[in-house]
Amino acid sequence: MLEQNAWFTEIHNRDGSAFSLRVRAKLHEERTPYQTIAIYETTDFGRLMVIDGCTMVSDRENFIYHEMMAHPALFIHPAPRRVAIIGGGDCGTLREVLKHPEVVEAVQIDIDERVTRLAEQYFPELVSANDDPRARLLFDDGIAWVRAAPPGALDLIIVDSTDPVGPAEGLFSAAFYADCWRALGPGGLLIQQSESPLYHQRLLAEMREAMQGAGFVDVKSLFFPQPIYPSGWWSAMLACKDGPIEGFREQAVAARAFATRYYNAAIHRAAFAIPEFMYRR
Ligand code: SAM
Repeated sequence: MLEQNAWFTEIHNRDGSAFSLRVRAKLHEERTPYQTIAIYETTDFGRLMVIDGCTMVSDRENFIYHEMMAHPALFIHPAPRRVAIIGGGDCGTLREVLKHPEVVEAVQIDIDERVTRLAEQYFPELVSANDDPRARLLFDDGIAWVRAAPPGALDLIIVDSTDPVGPAEGLFSAAFYADCWRALGPGGLLIQQSESPLYHQRLLAEMREAMQGAGFVDVKSLFFPQPIYPSGWWSAMLACKDGPIEGFREQAVAARAFATRYYNAAIHRAAFAIPEFMYRR
């Protein structure tokens, strides 16, 4: 147990901000060949996973991020059958993907098996779909896996990775996007977590240019709140291999047989609204 009012704090040095959660206990910490993973019991956010000092998921708020990394792209694609998740080791995004009956295969490639094993131990809700026969969990470098993927093998690639440093750095490169473009079939979509629109505008611009340079015909940003990440305001970048990103299967959203806690058709439309400052470079 930690002293009465102990706090976990992530300091964002470059941006002069920090984020804290009050914690009761540190439940686990280990150094894997890739990163240091810690699990905390908080007083008000349930359990918290931290990787290399950066918050990843907590029980209380992860539904926003996991729903927004999965449902907008899945309801934009006309027939999303074959999905790959790069990263996503906590398995929350996989759970959301498997809610879609059109999906026949969801393969998740995380470089660090320990993230998933710790999610199984401390975040049972996040791994609740892992036994779905359509799910396949691989533990490998997502960069190499996509490079080796057969051309046109996938309808959707979701990159749910850590920040663009360390093992995740190459997931934000033009070469990786070119491999994604080749691995996607007609109408294929790539969606990638793209950090904070407030703190990381240059990264968003660089990602957009690199995706367009890799051949993606249309690239759009979507925005959503992310209480435990730097600035509390997050984004994802959505790219279509060979056509415009316009509209979505709105009837399917209304008729969906599964529950969501954040995503719905109004949220889908609002998420693609562009803040005024982003029109000015
Ligand atoms: N939602 C979190 C965020 O936005 O920071 C990410 C969640 S998930 C825990 C991030 C995962 O990316 C980690 O499990 C990490 O092991 C994985 N990862 C980092 N680099 C990778 C790579 N090159 N290939 C596959 N997985 C990678």
